[in-house]
Amino acid sequence: MEIKRVTVIGGGTMGQQIALNAAVKGFDTTLTDSFPGVLDKVATWSKGYLDGRVAKGKMTSEEAATITKRFHMVESLEAAVAEADLVIEAIVEVLDAKKELLAKVAKMAPANAIIVSNSSTFVPSSMAAATGKPEKFANLHYFNPALHMDLVEIVVGPQSSPETIKSLVSFAAKIGKQAITVQKEIEGFIVNRLFGALTTEAWFLVENGYATVEDIDTAAEKGLGHPMGAFRTMDLAGLDTIYSIRLAKYKAGTGATPPKILEEKVKKGELGRKTGKGFYTYDNK
Ligand code: NAD
Repeated sequence: MEIKRVTVIGGGTMGQQIALNAAVKGFDTTLTDSFPGVLDKVATWSKGYLDGRVAKGKMTSEEAATITKRFHMVESLEAAVAEADLVIEAIVEVLDAKKELLAKVAKMAPANAIIVSNSSTFVPSSMAAATGKPEKFANLHYFNPALHMDLVEIVVGPQSSPETIKSLVSFAAKIGKQAITVQKEIEGFIVNRLFGALTTEAWFLVENGYATVEDIDTAAEKGLGHPMGAFRTMDLAGLDTIYSIRLAKYKAGTGATPPKILEEKVKKGELGRKTGKGFYTYDNK
């Protein structure tokens, strides 16, 4: 099935960029959010982004106007999904909220619409049944910032159909992303599992006094050719987010206690780039 109309639900950090990316790449795109004021904020941000591209000579003002025209902000969920070929769920990371929303969406969207979740932690089989059509469901996992990061992970659920996955692979190519397929669902998918293994070792080395944060990052950057070491990457993601993920794993019995240094940073409000200080100091002006 060819995807022409895309609806994104949730206009937060990820959803706004996922939606604008689709609009920029030529898709008729609708964004909806249940929180008052979010859509106005996204419209202002989107205009700022497009104006910036025009100012830098990356697109013409006519192109920017065409993109704005095909990027719709719609408050009603029912109206937003009514004609969608692909619905991308990007709301808060709360399983019950996602399942409740997905059940509603499946009833309101066209019967043949593909529905995906951008969840980083919940695998397709934990949500697919809520839609009543698990063959049309998978995870389409973007990376932050979604406008710029070139990768998406397509996570195949036990009941996702090959046609659904084929349509998503083709969609990914059209939005300018390289797709990788997680052929059997697994917690953390591929990228976050690799990053988890790297950070676990980085914590071990720093907590036991083998090396400094700076030298461990330099090891990954210069020795492995990674663009950013583990600590710099965690500063970018937000140390509160990293802490919550570690704590949830510990509580679920699938991980060790969160590292002391991390806990101390979060308690002090040193959350990384967004607060101007984490493992490194940033000039946020
Ligand atoms: P966010 O909190 O920034 O945004 C969530 C948005 O969803 C908010 O604007 C909120 O008003 C809206 N919302 C909540 N419930 C809703 C509902 N029932 N209907 C409509 N809108 C609703 O969250 P985020 O960081 O953008 O994360 C969204 C999803 O993307 C999560 O599943 C997360 O795991 C995933 N993800 C996040 C990142 C990241 O780096 N932040 C990266 C990859 C994937």
